[in-house]
Amino acid sequence: MDNNYNESRRPKKRVTKKMAQRRRLIALAVMVLILILGIVLICVACSGDDEPSGKKSNTPAVTTTTSVTTMVTTTTTAPVPTADPNDPNTITKIDLSVYEVYLNVGESKMPLVTMTPSSSTEKGEIWESSNKAVATVDWLGNITAVGAGECYVTVTSENNPIIYAEVKVVVTDPNAPAGVTTSATSAQSGMIQQTGQTQTTTAAPAPSGSADVQTVDEVTYIDGILIANKSYGLPADYAPGLDPTTESQFNALSEAAAQEGLNIWLASGYRSYEYQSTIYNNYSSLYGAETADTFSARPGHSEHQTGLAIDVNSIDDSFANTPEAEWLAQHAHEFGFIIRYPQGKQHITGYKYEPWHIRYLGVETATAVYNSGLTLEEYLGIDSVYGN
Ligand SMILES: [Zn+2]
Repeated sequence: MDNNYNESRRPKKRVTKKMAQRRRLIALAVMVLILILGIVLICVACSGDDEPSGKKSNTPAVTTTTSVTTMVTTTTTAPVPTADPNDPNTITKIDLSVYEVYLNVGESKMPLVTMTPSSSTEKGEIWESSNKAVATVDWLGNITAVGAGECYVTVTSENNPIIYAEVKVVVTDPNAPAGVTTSATSAQSGMIQQTGQTQTTTAAPAPSGSADVQTVDEVTYIDGILIANKSYGLPADYAPGLDPTTESQFNALSEAAAQEGLNIWLASGYRSYEYQSTIYNNYSSLYGAETADTFSARPGHSEHQTGLAIDVNSIDDSFANTPEAEWLAQHAHEFGFIIRYPQGKQHITGYKYEPWHIRYLGVETATAVYNSGLTLEEYLGIDSVYGN
């Protein structure tokens, strides 16, 4: 009503005021529209820069300039970063002292690396093993034979990752029983073999409970399940390598995880008695035996010596609560594995929580153990305590 009154009082200014208002509104709308367009364009350009998580982006791949006034968008793509051949620090060649190494399980070898040009100040090496169940390699290039088989160890240059050299690693297991094929010994996947060959079977005194304990060539089977813990050890010459069924089931597990976008890899599989001695002694001298005993097995007591245990991904507390750790805890039994040392069960298993350590039992037993909510020790009615 006020408007009508004003309009009638000043009819001449009515039109211009309305038009000015309308113009202002249109101008505002256009400006808002341009602003939104600009923001959208910048966002699109930014998201294009993102690389898959875990990889660092050194140089932006796309540069976008948005001009608000002219609404012209120019997009330039920077070249893929490659090592500059004119840079005196660019590594152009890697030579090794050996390209093929033959090792027995537990043995180590470190090939010497020569990077060209020798004057380069950026000679950082990145070492990798194609199969950590066969051989592992540390950051210095020290290759350690883990289990029988063949794999490749590669070294690339941090400075120029296109350049690399490769060592073929052939690992043999001198303790593998002659005449017995690997698949034959492992087909049972840790279950007792009732083949009655040259094995000596003795009945050991049963632990608390009514578990069926059998000892075959100093290896203990409880209810038919091979056991290595603090109470039950393995002889030094028990060296089966990584059990092939365990390995193939692990690969199936890893593939299933990959289907869900998760990355679960084998970090440590079979370990020989000798290798475990080295590990344990290192920890023991670093932290003292009492502390070392809470997370590292004494030689002859490591489940890794059975060839039925695998450590996945990063073998430290950072693995806990990762999506991979959660998935593993929920699905490992579907592939025949259990999380061997669950949280809060140190007084039973003898080891602190290890979300990365899985033990192969076969799907049926692993599922039964999983559904019971018990540790393997509780499930079998045994303990895990060193005798001395
Ligand atoms: Zn382990």
